[in-house]
Amino acid sequence: MSLIDLTATELQSQLALGHITAVEVTGAFWAQIERLNEQVGAFLATRRDMALEAAERIDLQRAKGAAVGPLAGIPVALKDLICTQGERTTCASRMLASFVPPYDATVVERLRSADAILIGKTNLDEFAMGGSTESSALGVTRNPWDLECVPGGSSGGAAACLAARMVPLSVGTDTGGSIRQPAAFCGVTGLKPTYGRVSRYGLIAFASSLDQIGPMARSAEDVALLLEVLAGHDARDSTSAAVPVPRYTECLRQPLSGLRIGVPRAHFADGLDPEVAAAVQEGLRVYRDQGAEIREIELPHGRYGIAAYYVIAPSEASSNLARYDGVHYGYRTDEAALLAEWREESRRLMDAGDTSALQQSDNPLVRMYRRTRAEGFGPEVKRRIMLGTYALSAGYYDAYYLKAQKVRRLIRQDYDRAFEQVDLILGPVTPGPAFRAGEKASDPLSMYLVDLFTVGANLAGIPAISVPCGFTSRGLPVGLHLQAPPLEESRLLRAAYMYQQTTDWHTRKPSLA
Ligand code: GLN
Repeated sequence: MSLIDLTATELQSQLALGHITAVEVTGAFWAQIERLNEQVGAFLATRRDMALEAAERIDLQRAKGAAVGPLAGIPVALKDLICTQGERTTCASRMLASFVPPYDATVVERLRSADAILIGKTNLDEFAMGGSTESSALGVTRNPWDLECVPGGSSGGAAACLAARMVPLSVGTDTGGSIRQPAAFCGVTGLKPTYGRVSRYGLIAFASSLDQIGPMARSAEDVALLLEVLAGHDARDSTSAAVPVPRYTECLRQPLSGLRIGVPRAHFADGLDPEVAAAVQEGLRVYRDQGAEIREIELPHGRYGIAAYYVIAPSEASSNLARYDGVHYGYRTDEAALLAEWREESRRLMDAGDTSALQQSDNPLVRMYRRTRAEGFGPEVKRRIMLGTYALSAGYYDAYYLKAQKVRRLIRQDYDRAFEQVDLILGPVTPGPAFRAGEKASDPLSMYLVDLFTVGANLAGIPAISVPCGFTSRGLPVGLHLQAPPLEESRLLRAAYMYQQTTDWHTRKPSLA
């Protein structure tokens, strides 16, 4: 078996035994990146030399018998909205195309001190707004299972690089489904932690009350390994949870006896792709065979999830994105051209004696802001800013934002009630498998509806995982969605691990890889 087919856990033990070196591991994944990234387009930036240098350093340390971190010598990809000191962090936007952060995100610090090999930054929908990675202004990412299809989004690059065996571990973010949906579309495992479980310090904000960083990998075991490194309290993020982090890798094998699984009836209603429904039902059967008790449950406000999410997320986005004004950092429109134009125009108005028009014309500063934002942001980001600004404006605030917040509370209460009766909630991750590139790109509503089953966990702040559970007849992966009460990531991981012990969907690989 080639090194790139091993899981991070397997690599970790082979490295510890001295059977392989970090340089060999890094070299093997690097070769796969070179072989496939042009076709798949998962990475926006890669760093071969720095990765190999780091690998050499780890090998040396190990040779000397010095202690190394839990991810020593294991390549990890970072979604390109997580700040890396001295290295570009673009959010796949023209606005930040040349932005070089002066500091590392907390998760990056943690990965570095775990001795992970940070090998590259992955593509995403611009500012993580989207579900197909098509809104990226900086590159196209394709689904390794079918290059005509999207990898999902917004962590499309993060999922695609795993499926294509370019890395064993990858870090994504999930605001409304952006870890779980691309994981489902690419046949990998991805976990959105409880809000607050992982520090957001150094994560470029989209919707701050919903954003969470989380682990993606090819097995639940690897997801546990990575989450253990990422999770933990951080004084620099005031929303970070000050609670101890379990040893996920250690509790993984504890069986879940007497497991009660809730299935929301509405998640299997009309509109669900029949092949997706069949694969998820089959997944449910696996749990039943292992002794789980299956109960039908209701999440009565679930159907308002999309509406609430698409008010709250754009509202927070419109506020977060106000900082991109071309003054502090990021893209700025061509000032020389702007000033020349403005002088020319003022001269013309003055010559014509049209002083009122002159007074009404924008001063160059306002023009600079306006033009910078018009040129720097793509259409989906602008749509969100407009939706959010509208929803927050005086006169509409109560009708939209406040109402959405009330619905959000009801959704959380639905979950609280459901979790009085069941330990986990199971359903599909998405209504259908990966779609063709271009199919939804011009129809925002149909793109938003893909988030039907995922936004609930973000609105409620609870953890959720996507686990591969089968394929469609066209060979596209299907994801099984498990949701758990707050801070119960270990329950999700144990359930996913249990599932992956008796199924092999997660080990399948696209012919391309
Ligand atoms: N597809 C959702 C959106 O466009 C979710 C994105 C995300 O989780 N970052 O907002």
